[in-house]
Formats: sequence, structure tokens, C-alpha cells
Amino acid sequence: MSELPVPYPDELWYSIVARRLRDWGYLNRSAELRSVYGSSAPTINMVAPLRPRQFSASSKGQSTPSTRVLAARNTLLPYYLAFASPSRREAMLAVLESPDVLVKLRLSALTRRLVPASLRFCRDCMDTDMMLFGEAYWHRSHQVPGMDHCPEHGLVLFESSVPYQPAKLDYWTAHRSRCRAAPTSKTAALMGRSLSKSITQVVMSVLNSAELISLWIDRRRYAVLLAECGYEAKGCRIAATAFEAAFREFLRQRRADADVFGCAGWWLPAFTGVSGELTPMQHLLLREFVRHRLIRVRRSHVPINVVAAHAQFVT
Ligand SMILES: [Zn+2]
Repeated sequence: MSELPVPYPDELWYSIVARRLRDWGYLNRSAELRSVYGSSAPTINMVAPLRPRQFSASSKGQSTPSTRVLAARNTLLPYYLAFASPSRREAMLAVLESPDVLVKLRLSALTRRLVPASLRFCRDCMDTDMMLFGEAYWHRSHQVPGMDHCPEHGLVLFESSVPYQPAKLDYWTAHRSRCRAAPTSKTAALMGRSLSKSITQVVMSVLNSAELISLWIDRRRYAVLLAECGYEAKGCRIAATAFEAAFREFLRQRRADADVFGCAGWWLPAFTGVSGELTPMQHLLLREFVRHRLIRVRRSHVPINVVAAHAQFVT
């Protein structure tokens, strides 16, 4: 694909491609797309371009942004990387740097039932974008599965008519005809406002970081934190039943249903040897619970980023 437009702030990579195709009148559309993806590209992955190296090479500018810079600024990879285990993180980064490997993130496994039905937008962001740039575009921060408010304006997001996981290679810009802010197109809330705000704060600290950071908490650390919260059982184990009841109640009080975020008992891999990995949103909910309990136990402020001291740059 010849040069891509200069990305707007917080613009999703998909949006950049959509603008490029629109500007060129969708001429030779399939050939353009083939040049980015090769011949086999069955669906669009909203998280990242399927062939990030080729995509970043087509980006406009005096210096071509590296794949890493593209991933950090215009994809949701920083969000997934932040809560991935070290081995998973390494595998994801290796794919990012490989020239010919398709990025396969097993989106459904990572997000479970939280994958939005369509791309989302904020009414106020659209107005601001029109004023500043003369057009609206898809914001990356509006597409995080499970987040239903605009981090900038605090307004509830709306669903557009553009599917989040299109069946074929269809790229659509955030034109007003596809973004109607009607009461029926409001994003369904998965949790109350206060919980949503805290989680948004952590997610935005990840997305706004210039580097790809890690907020991963390993099993041992979770066990230590939960023990400090009062859920320690004999033999250095965690009192799972008491913890589960308290966690469910914590979420219920904040208008969130634990089961919506995964199958029953999804938190077990966090502190036991049970296999499986938590999704980023599951980590975020668990961290919020731990933070609230620690405030009670320590009788002092606990940073919103409960493991801030352990945050590290991904290498
Ligand atoms: Zn907004």
C-alpha cells in the first residue's frame, strides 16, 4: 500500500487504513489490501494489523515508525501486553518483530464475552475531531473490550454500525452516517461508574505510556496480596471460598456481575496452580478488589495502580 495518512492522536490503525482507502476512492481496493496483508487475510483483527511490519512501512512521515512505535501508539497491543505473562508477552513481541508472520492473538480467548459488537465512538470526541481535523476518526481508547465510557469526556460510548469483527476486509471511516448517537445505540454498561472510572484510569496509564509496559502480577504475588487482605488459609493457601464470596459481593455492590467476565471460578488461575490465564479485564477487576481490601487493612492510601512499584518496561 502506498503511503498511509499521518495518524491522528489516539487513532486506531484500522481507522488510518480506512481513511487511506476513502481518500483514494477505494480504487484498486483489493490490490491495496493484498499489498499489506498478502493473499490470505480472512478477517480484520481490530487489535493490530495482521502484518504489522508491512503496515508500519507504509506509514507516512520522514522516518518510518518502527513496528513497536506503531503498536504502542495505534493498536490495543499495549493493553494486552500489559497483562500478559512473561512467556506470552515474549511470544507476542516476537511475532511483532517478525516480517512475515501473521499476528494471531486468539482474540476470543483473551476477551471472552466482552468483545464489542461494533466499533464505538464518543459524541464529544467526534465534535472535537471535526473542529480540529475536519473529520472524525476511530479512537483506540474507545475500543477496549469492557470499557463503556470515553476516558476523555466521561460520557457513555455509542455503538456505530461498523462491526468490531468484520467478516471480510471492509474498512469504514467514522463518518456520521455510521455513527448515530441514539438512545438505542448506547453501549451497555458492564459495571457501575466508580468501578469503571478506576479501571479506565489504569487502562489509560497503559495506553498513554510511550513504552510497552507490564503490569503483570504473578501467582505468588497475588497469593501474598490476598493473604494480606485476610484470605490466608493453613499451609500458605488462600481461603478460596471466603475470597470468592467477598469478591462477588464487591462486584455486586459496584453493579458488576462476576459471571459476565468469565466462567465461574475464573479467578482460580490467579493464585493456584490451575492452568489458564486471566484476561486483562479479569486482572483489572481483581486488582481493584485487592486495592480496596488493602486500603482497609493498611489503613492508608493505596495507589490506583496497586503494583505500580512492580510496573516495568517490556524488553
Ligand atoms: Zn470523548
